[in-house]
Amino acid sequence: MAGAADEVKTVVFGITGGIAAYKAPLIVRALKAHGFDVHTILTEAGSRFVTPYTLQAVSGRPVYSEMFRVIDSGSYAVEHVALADRAKLLLIAPASANCLAKLAGGIADDPLSCTALATRAPLLVCPSMNANMYTHPATRRNLDTLKSRGVHILEPETGELACGWEGPGRLPAPERIADEVRRYLHPQGLAGRRILITCGPTAEDIDPVRFITNRSTGRMGRSLVEAACLQGAEVRVITGPVNLTYAPWAQVFSVRSAGELLAAVQAHLDWAEVLIMAAAVADYVPREYRGSKIKKGSQALKALELASSPDILATIAPDKGARVFVGFAAETDDVAGQGLDKLRRKGLDLIVANQVGKEGTGFAAETNTGLIITSGGTQEPFERMDKGELARRILDHVRDRL
Ligand code: C5P
Repeated sequence: MAGAADEVKTVVFGITGGIAAYKAPLIVRALKAHGFDVHTILTEAGSRFVTPYTLQAVSGRPVYSEMFRVIDSGSYAVEHVALADRAKLLLIAPASANCLAKLAGGIADDPLSCTALATRAPLLVCPSMNANMYTHPATRRNLDTLKSRGVHILEPETGELACGWEGPGRLPAPERIADEVRRYLHPQGLAGRRILITCGPTAEDIDPVRFITNRSTGRMGRSLVEAACLQGAEVRVITGPVNLTYAPWAQVFSVRSAGELLAAVQAHLDWAEVLIMAAAVADYVPREYRGSKIKKGSQALKALELASSPDILATIAPDKGARVFVGFAAETDDVAGQGLDKLRRKGLDLIVANQVGKEGTGFAAETNTGLIITSGGTQEPFERMDKGELARRILDHVRDRL
């Protein structure tokens, strides 16, 4: 559903004649799921791949496909100009080679190309076509022309194409396109800021079969990654083993153990202006890794010897400099007291102290209960707050400190 930052905005969505036009209704649905009001424009060739009836049904809006339509009710405004004015963004997907050439040349011979000239809204163009058409010098030059005018191009994916070829030209998935629209229209409060976020649990191997881990799923981290990316931050994620995907703009580095996580944080710290340690790091790790499976019943398993893991925040504290450090605390009792103690001990700017062990908060839940505690002494409680909303609150604090 639409987040607070995605208040209803009008997206005018042009569909041209590429085979990937069959994905257009799914793109409309993905956009609507994020709260956008979607008006479609279908070219003549596009209508060979997807019908106006389908687009009308999924968008809940009339489809604009004829240039000189005489209407007998409603507004008598010139349609392409009215739509062009209303658009917060003009999205074209798939954009055929012919469409790119028309956009680059300023040709206006159908409703979509007229709207593209008439609008002052930004353009997001998703080219999709046969690999040879895509890499043809004419298409490359048209794309360069569009980029030089500030048109945002979402590059096609490389893979098996509908025409049977392999190569660049495949339209990204509908949700990916909707995400790009969301980011494009989102306020860019963290534009260009470099944020390092650790997520998920660590897994500490005992032998090739067994390991120790915890209940973290990476959901809080994922919400932080998405919220930071939508606000224009450059985000690097260091993730333990999780079963989820992060926002497409983030650079993701996978680790397994607390030791690997420490090494990865140290490797990326110079780059970062902000470090958010949302990972649930193992407190204890097996003293020794056994290369072959330990026999059931053996002493090495019954009395498994553990050693403390490196405290990552404590280890890197001397390198903090002007960076903003955010930590998390997962507590079952005295959440505020424990949180404050950790904020001080770990030299943090901010700690998010979470209640765990109750329904609707902590690991694996969609919501969280606890407090945001700042080094300035403020305590901001939150109760069963959606992790997306909590991520935005945390980033508000981060932004204030940059
Ligand atoms: O001490 P505790 O594990 O409760 O502290 C939680 C915070 O410290 C989290 O931000 C976590 O990512 C970080 N942490 C760490 N190194 C550890 C354990 C936790 O940096 N070994």
